[in-house]
Amino acid sequence: LKSHHKRAHGRNSRPQPGFDAADAAAKRQRLAVERQGMPIWAAREALVAEAQAHHTLIVVGETGSGKTTQIPQLLLEAGLAGQRGLIGCTQPRRVAAVTVARRVADEMGVQLGQQVGYSIRFDDATSAATRIKYMTDGMLLREALIDPLLSRYKVVIVDEAHERSVHTDVLLGLLKQVQRRRHQAWQQQQQQQQPQQHTNSSKDHTQHDYQQQSRQQQEGQPQQQQQQLANGHSHHHKSSSSSSSSRHIGPLRLLVMSATLDAGAFSDYFGGARAVWVRGRTHPVTIMNTAQPEENYLDAALCATLQVHVDEPAGDILVFLTGQEEIDSLARLLQERAAALPEGGYGGLGLEVLPIYAALPPEQQVKVFEPAPAGMRKAILATNIAETSITIPGVRYVVDTGFVKARGYSAKLGADSLQVVPVSQAQARQRSGRAGREAPGKAFRLYTEDAFAALPATTPPEITRVNLGSVVLQLKALGVEDVAGFDFMQPPPRAAIVRSLELLFALGALDGKGQLTPDTGAALARLPVDPMYGKVLLAGAASGCAVEAMQLVAMVSSENVFHNPRGKQDAVNSTRAKFLHPEGDQLTLLGVMAAFLQVERRRRPEWASDNFINIRALRKAQDIYAQLKGHLSSLGLPIQSCGSDCVPVQRALVAGLFPHAAKRQPDGTYRVIATGQIVHLHPSSVLRGKAPECVVFSELVRTTRQYAREVTRIQARWLPELAPAFFAAKAGAGVAAEAGGGAQS
Ligand code: ADP
Ligand code: MG
Repeated sequence: LKSHHKRAHGRNSRPQPGFDAADAAAKRQRLAVERQGMPIWAAREALVAEAQAHHTLIVVGETGSGKTTQIPQLLLEAGLAGQRGLIGCTQPRRVAAVTVARRVADEMGVQLGQQVGYSIRFDDATSAATRIKYMTDGMLLREALIDPLLSRYKVVIVDEAHERSVHTDVLLGLLKQVQRRRHQAWQQQQQQQQPQQHTNSSKDHTQHDYQQQSRQQQEGQPQQQQQQLANGHSHHHKSSSSSSSSRHIGPLRLLVMSATLDAGAFSDYFGGARAVWVRGRTHPVTIMNTAQPEENYLDAALCATLQVHVDEPAGDILVFLTGQEEIDSLARLLQERAAALPEGGYGGLGLEVLPIYAALPPEQQVKVFEPAPAGMRKAILATNIAETSITIPGVRYVVDTGFVKARGYSAKLGADSLQVVPVSQAQARQRSGRAGREAPGKAFRLYTEDAFAALPATTPPEITRVNLGSVVLQLKALGVEDVAGFDFMQPPPRAAIVRSLELLFALGALDGKGQLTPDTGAALARLPVDPMYGKVLLAGAASGCAVEAMQLVAMVSSENVFHNPRGKQDAVNSTRAKFLHPEGDQLTLLGVMAAFLQVERRRRPEWASDNFINIRALRKAQDIYAQLKGHLSSLGLPIQSCGSDCVPVQRALVAGLFPHAAKRQPDGTYRVIATGQIVHLHPSSVLRGKAPECVVFSELVRTTRQYAREVTRIQARWLPELAPAFFAAKAGAGVAAEAGGGAQS
C-alpha cells in the first residue's frame, strides 16, 4: 500500500524534470511563509517550553490555528523525540491522518513516508526513517497490543480529543497507564544511577536520554513532576512493577489536543495536568437561518449553494452533508446546475465542485486544498471531516444541513446502526466558524433558529453509544481483566460492556471466566477487522474456504463496487444481472471479485466501465485481501479455496454474523432473532422479493424504515450448530435484548 502516496500528485506538480528542484524550493518558501502566518507561530517557543516542562500537557486551540500540522514539527525540532524516537499524533479520522501527513511532509520538504508518514488501517506509509507519524487512534491501540509500553514513542499526541471517539477514550486510559509504568521505570533507573550522576557523566544513557534528562534537570523538573504525580494519583506506587524491557525507554510525553474549551475534563482526568490555550484568529461570521423548516435538506443545500454562488463575491463554499452517496449526488446536480447558469456565478465566476469524504482516494482528497483555478471558486462538499479535523483554506461561506451520520448502538435494535442525526449546537458552531478563518464570512444554516435552540448542546461521547465488541476484546488482549473497572474518562454503560462480553463469549473469544481464549480470542484481537468478521475469517479457514472468506470481508470493507450512473438504469440492470447471486449480496460481491480477477490485468479498467463497476473499490478490496492473507498466514491458518461451492461460505458467514440473523415473519418483514427487532430487506438487496426464510445481514441502516443491508440466505438450523453458546443462552433467557445482564461479570 505504500504505493498510495506515490500515485498522488497535485494539480500543481509539473512533469518537466528540469523545473522540479526550483519548483520544490519555491513551494517550500511559500509554505514557510504560510507557517509563519499561523496563529501558533507566535506561541511556538512558549509551547515548546510548556511541553518540556510538563510530561502531560493539554493544548486547546481554535480550529485552524496550526496545532495538528505544527506542534509535532516543533517538538521534533526541539529534540523532544531524541535522536531516533517517534512522535505519534493520533486522529479519529483516516482522512485527517493522511492529508495532514502529506501537508507536513511538504512543509518539511521530505517525501511522504520518510521522516513524516501515516498509518491507517489497511494503509501504512511509514518507514524506518519516520519520526513523525500521523495515525488513527485505532492504529495506536493496535500497536499497543504488540508493544504494550509503546517503546518506540517518545511523544504521543492525542489530537481531536474533543471528538471523543471510542478509540480516543480507550487510548487515553491506556496512555495514562503506559506513562505511569514508563515513568516509574525511568525513576528507578535514575535512582540506581544516582551515584554516577554528580560526576556529570552519563555513559550509560543513550544520547537522547541524556539530552532529555539534562534539560529537565536545568528546569528542576523531575522533582516537580514527581510531586504532581504523587498528588494526582495516590495509587501511583501500587501499579505493576516495571518490566526489564522498559529500562531504557525513558518517560512518555503526552499531549492531548482539543478544539473546544473542555480542557477541564481532560486536565482532571490526568490528575490536574497543565492546560494551555492557543488563541486563534477568527473573523465575525454572519449566521443565516431558514425561516421555515426544510423538507429535504439536500434540495435545500443545492439551492443555498447556488444562491451563494450567484449572490456572493469571491470565496469558497463549504457544504456539510452526511455521507458519500449524498455528496456524490449533490456534486452531480451542482455541476449540472452551475454549468447551466447563463452568466456564471457572481461576477462571472465558475464553480469547481469538489467532494471530500473518507472513501475518496488520497489524490482526490488533496485537491480540496489547492486554490481554485483563476476565475473559479470551489464548492467543497464534505462530511463532518471538515468540521475540525481538516482546515481548507479559502472558505468564506458555509452551508450547514444540520445533519451528521453517526454510528450508534441501539439497545432496542441490539446492533450498531448508521443513522443520520441532527448535529449538536457545538458542532453547528464549529461548522459556521469555518467561514471566518481568513476574513468575515457567512454561514447559511438550513434550519430554523428554533430548531437550533432545540439541538443538544454537545454530543455524548461515542463510547456511551456504540458496540464495544472490538474495544472490549482489545482491552482483554492488553491484559485488562476487569473491563468495567478500567479507568475510562467516561465509563460506557455497564449493560453495553456486558453485551460485548456475551458476544465475545459467543464468538469463542472469551472463556466462561471472561478470559481471552488462547486460540480464537488471541487471533481475533490480532485481526484488523471487527471480531464478528474476524470470526468469519477463522471459520472460513477452518472449513477450507479462507480465500472466499477473505475476499468477502475485503469486499465488505471496501467502498461500494457498484456504479449507478444516472439515467442509465436499464443498461445497468441488464449488465448487472449476470453478477447477481441467488443466495444473496455477500455472495454477489464475491462473484464480482472472481469475475474481475479472471479478466486480463490490462483489460480490467475497460471491463469495469463496461460493467458499471467501480474499479477503485475492487483494487482497494484486492489490497485488503492481500493484507488479510498476510494476517491469516502469520496465524498459521490454511489458505484454501472451496471453489464454486457456496455453502461453506454461507456457513462461515453465520459463524461470525449470527447476531445479525433474521427470520421472515408471516407479514414479510424480518425479525432479528437475537433482539426481536423488526427490519426490512434493503431495496438494493438481490434477495428483495425472493422472500428467503432466514438470512444474515451486514448492518442495519435507518432511513424511512429500519433496513438490513447486504443480506445472505442461510439455513435456520445452522444457527444453533454454529453458534451454540449464543442460541442456547438466548433460548434459555427468552430472547431478551438485555438478557443475562451481569451473567459474565
Ligand atoms: P488545527 O490543528 O489547529 O486545527 P491545522 O494544523 O490543521 O490546524 O491547520 C493549520 C493551517 O494549515 C490552516 O490554516 C490550514 O489552512 C493549513 N493547512 C492544513 N492542512 C493543509 C493542507 N493540506 N493544504 C493547505 N493548507 C493546509
Ligand atoms: Mg487539528
